[in-house]
Amino acid sequence: MSGFPEFIYRNNELFVESVPLEQIAAEFGTPCYVYSRSALTRAYQEFDSAFADRDHLICYAVKANANLAILNLFARLGSGFDIVSGGELLRVIKAGGNPQKTVFSGVGKNTEEMRMALEANILCFNVESEAELIALNQIAKDMSKIAPVSLRVNPDVDAKTHPYISTGLKENKFGMPISEAERIYQSARLYPHVRFTGLDCHIGSQLTEIEPFMQAIEKILNLLNNLKSRGLEIEHLDFGGGLGIRYAHETPPSIKNYVSTLCASTNDIKQRLLIEPGRSLVGNAGILLTRIEYLKHTPVRNFAIVDAAMNDLMRPALYDAYHEILPVNKHDRETQNYQIVGPVCETGDFLGHDRKLSLTTGNLLAIMSAGAYGMSMSSNYNTRPRAAEVMIDKGTVHIIRQRETIDQLFATERVLP
Ligand SMILES: *Cc1c(COP(=O)(O)O)cnc(C)c1O
Repeated sequence: MSGFPEFIYRNNELFVESVPLEQIAAEFGTPCYVYSRSALTRAYQEFDSAFADRDHLICYAVKANANLAILNLFARLGSGFDIVSGGELLRVIKAGGNPQKTVFSGVGKNTEEMRMALEANILCFNVESEAELIALNQIAKDMSKIAPVSLRVNPDVDAKTHPYISTGLKENKFGMPISEAERIYQSARLYPHVRFTGLDCHIGSQLTEIEPFMQAIEKILNLLNNLKSRGLEIEHLDFGGGLGIRYAHETPPSIKNYVSTLCASTNDIKQRLLIEPGRSLVGNAGILLTRIEYLKHTPVRNFAIVDAAMNDLMRPALYDAYHEILPVNKHDRETQNYQIVGPVCETGDFLGHDRKLSLTTGNLLAIMSAGAYGMSMSSNYNTRPRAAEVMIDKGTVHIIRQRETIDQLFATERVLP
């Protein structure tokens, strides 16, 4: 057992569904991201069915993995989207997603992005500051439009996750204090080109406990009540994303438990519920496939140098994140303690530390749980073209992104005359 339903060993060889990973590497090369359509579909349907008949919209957080094929798959399942840039809006549209099911988050939306989103008639702007609200009101006025707005509040709860992905503490740059949101909602008449339709929060990512979500919900419901007693009606509540996944031994709430908690805590109100899951929809549906280039034994450590690096999967270098690493071909020779590292010229370029594995040069490794914040955070550092991406659908391997070429990297650069 690998612990990942779509990535399974058969006779000591790792498969994705019915396809040997060895075959994918032979055909498409490495490093290569490999996704399972059935895993993506299952995760979406778990969210959707857990809401049962509650009025809801799942807005997939595009930044977790923005490949057009993945967006298109979620769009076909009925998903909405959470975007954080004009580029992501264009991706959603290109992939056949519905702008009217799209919410726009982020602290720094610029004029052009606000125009594009108003033009596309998106569902809601998640506004993160008064300055942004003033700008949006003005742009909507210039376009003779009314901008639907949800204020993103910062509920000041500790998400108990890595500080880089914690967003709901008062010292973080995200959202606004509840008291400020309350004041702004009450001065709605100052913003005639804005319509306040929602209330929003997002407290962080990779949360493995339900408690911080419940604290945030309680604060949001309090605010909702205060607004209601002043005659302000809100149409939807957006609880953001953040549900964690299992990378190693974490035991995050299940999708079903998480959604049930949201529904149960809001049983008394009639507002539509929105959520913005990213990682929990795609994280465990993808792996990064890489080949061992060299084994290097120094007096103090053993290194396995592989052809994927921090530019392909930044999470270990950025957050010291743990990804399980499985050999594509298992055998029972003696294991050694390995540092799994890439070719990039940084000591921070590692994919895993201290892994007990039995390795052979030329063999393949699967870096597990790489579907979220893998490809979408990749770069060309060290002039490394970005990896290929493939998706398995009922035994067929589809290329959903060609491996980048060196020529593409040079294409926009110019030397002086
Ligand atoms: C990143 C982000 C999400 C998605 O977070 P996950 O932890 O991947 O579920 C949702 N909403 C906002 C505003 C975000 O910034």
